[in-house]
Amino acid sequence: MFENLKDQPADKILALMEAYKADPREDKIDLGVGVYKNPEGITPVMRAVKSAEQRIWEEQETKAYTGLAGDPMFADAMIGLVLGDAVSRDQVSAVATPGGTGAVRQAFELIRMANPGARIFVSDPTWPNHLSILKYLGIETVSYRYFDSSTGGVDFAGMMEDLGQLKAGDVVLLHGCCHNPTGANLNLTEWKAVVARLTEAGALPMIDIAYQGFGDGLDEDAAAVRLVASSVPECLIAASCSKNFGIYRERTGLLMAVAQDRGLGRTTQGNLAFLNRQNYSFPPDHGARIVSTILTDDGLRADWQAELEDVRLNMLGLREQLASELQRLSGSDRFHFLAQHRGMFSRLGCAPEQVETLRKDHGIYMVGDSRMNIAGLNSTTVPLLARAIVDAGI
Ligand code: PMP
Repeated sequence: MFENLKDQPADKILALMEAYKADPREDKIDLGVGVYKNPEGITPVMRAVKSAEQRIWEEQETKAYTGLAGDPMFADAMIGLVLGDAVSRDQVSAVATPGGTGAVRQAFELIRMANPGARIFVSDPTWPNHLSILKYLGIETVSYRYFDSSTGGVDFAGMMEDLGQLKAGDVVLLHGCCHNPTGANLNLTEWKAVVARLTEAGALPMIDIAYQGFGDGLDEDAAAVRLVASSVPECLIAASCSKNFGIYRERTGLLMAVAQDRGLGRTTQGNLAFLNRQNYSFPPDHGARIVSTILTDDGLRADWQAELEDVRLNMLGLREQLASELQRLSGSDRFHFLAQHRGMFSRLGCAPEQVETLRKDHGIYMVGDSRMNIAGLNSTTVPLLARAIVDAGI
């Protein structure tokens, strides 16, 4: 039977990691894979995570199954973190999932169950895994304009024009903050216009939030999600704890379905649990327990927030340093957008050949669409990158 299988296309980011590893140059720079790295190039275990793990080790008495939706403590804590008091708890159905990817996948499956004809509108570009999962599930996608490579910002007029095609029952996938791969984000006025468009069309927003706390702060990064959840009749929110808790391999995420009509909650909750059951039964618990331990303890929570703030400010500082270095070397303001972008990524907006030149001539590895992981830099490598960008004629 296995002879019927065809090779799957290689993952471009993983291939880039391999090429980086094989490159003997000592001054090579890895701006590829999306994990946070501190100035020493390490992806550390956060202090509060270590403390929470120690507490769990000391206090946990069983590893028996939790529930199909995961531990309710985790859901409550995450709903508080993401939604604040934008909606009341009884408006939210939620299930723990393996990572943000699991939440995204379950959201797509729920959409397909609820409305098999739904089309999902996705930003151009978006996180490639969105497209790959949608294709695998056979869900029709429509892309909307998003990034303007001439300004490095959002093509908001183009986006709104494309959202003009929305029909009732369609879904619009939006990045809650820190857009991956571009780094360009909507402001709150633009979010309000998007909400009005969706409401007018009867379309459902689905928000993927994988970088809360990496942009402008925990509450600031959740402002758009909270606005949407409190304004529309129904929405879906896929949250990841991989980045902001630094627990990538623990596979920790939460899918939330928010409805103004509270009567729909029980059935929605039941369907979310059903989907968990079909796909993997009980969701992983260790990462979820770390997160709920941190969020429900004042001391651990304060320590986590302080460390997350250091992470955020480190990336912001690198952005500002890179933009000003490029301003100095190029004598133009055209790279200012790098300081305005938020999160771990920025799309430089250059041609694939120029990305290739950066790799061949300077040992700088970024994804082919010119997405850079800003956290792959430090204050010593920023000037090297800036010089290489100018030398490559970008
Ligand atoms: N959504 C987006 C936009 C992402 O960038 C990521 C991480 N690369 C995820 C979801 C999911 O991450 P994970 O499954 O590792 O939690």
